[in-house]
Amino acid sequence: MTTTDAPHDDEAAPVRALWSGLGLPGIIDVHTHFMPENVLVKVWRFFEELGEGVWPIRYRGGERERTELLRALGVRRFTSMLYPHRPGMAEWLNAWAADFAERTPDCLRTATFHPEPGAGGYTAAAIEDGARVFKAHLQVGGYDPRDPLLSDVWGALADSGTPVVVHCGSGPHGGAFTGPGPFAEVLAEHPRLPAIIAHCGAPEYTEFLDLAERYERVHLDTTMVFTAFTERSAPFPRAELPRLADLGGRVLLGTDFPNIPHPYADQLTALAELDLGGDWLRGVLYGNAARLFGAGPHRAP
Ligand SMILES: [Zn+2]
Repeated sequence: MTTTDAPHDDEAAPVRALWSGLGLPGIIDVHTHFMPENVLVKVWRFFEELGEGVWPIRYRGGERERTELLRALGVRRFTSMLYPHRPGMAEWLNAWAADFAERTPDCLRTATFHPEPGAGGYTAAAIEDGARVFKAHLQVGGYDPRDPLLSDVWGALADSGTPVVVHCGSGPHGGAFTGPGPFAEVLAEHPRLPAIIAHCGAPEYTEFLDLAERYERVHLDTTMVFTAFTERSAPFPRAELPRLADLGGRVLLGTDFPNIPHPYADQLTALAELDLGGDWLRGVLYGNAARLFGAGPHRAP
């Protein structure tokens, strides 16, 4: 391990102990953020402006330092979740993400979209060109997922079986179109859409579990859920744990690295402490994502 240099050892040891103890070859994190430096700086400023100590971002190194740290932790595949907050920005972000994936072979090439003329076309082109996963953020984007300009976008993702991580829960900040209602209508229209509900839909966990049970391609990502930080503001209802256990094959590790207020290991420890069994945990940390992304973007439906 040439990447495990001294500054990473404290971070890496507990993470590596956890996955190696489960007999895994590493972990796959479907929800990490890499974006153009000027955009990332703005995201970090947003968190700073929440107030001193409210959301202290732990991993503020340069891009290379952040990718090296993920490798030292044993993260075998990760993503570069990015999202526009206005029209006219998605294609630029997609070009950046394509270049990032090109120089970062362990990153699943990521893309995004906004309801705007041409969205269906550039989404289909990104899929054709090798995008493996998309990101949609309804609160930051401030758009209605039922917007007719997105109909071809959801259709292209569903037809090609390309997963899309959708931040559609109302946490930590709600928007006009967050919550289970609007996105449930998208799924009713596109029942084969491989949507990955970010943050397990926090705080509307129950309603998004309902959707995952109703639609067999809907997955949930664990991003920040169950950590002490999220349990304070949006605790996962313990009574729903059996449903999460039953959905095992469709629960995927996500963390929100690097924009997190705690050590990376905390997410894994929180999942292990749910005590849902070794098989469940192996699936969540590695197997489920390996299966979902293993066959490439043009999987047979
Ligand atoms: Zn995120």
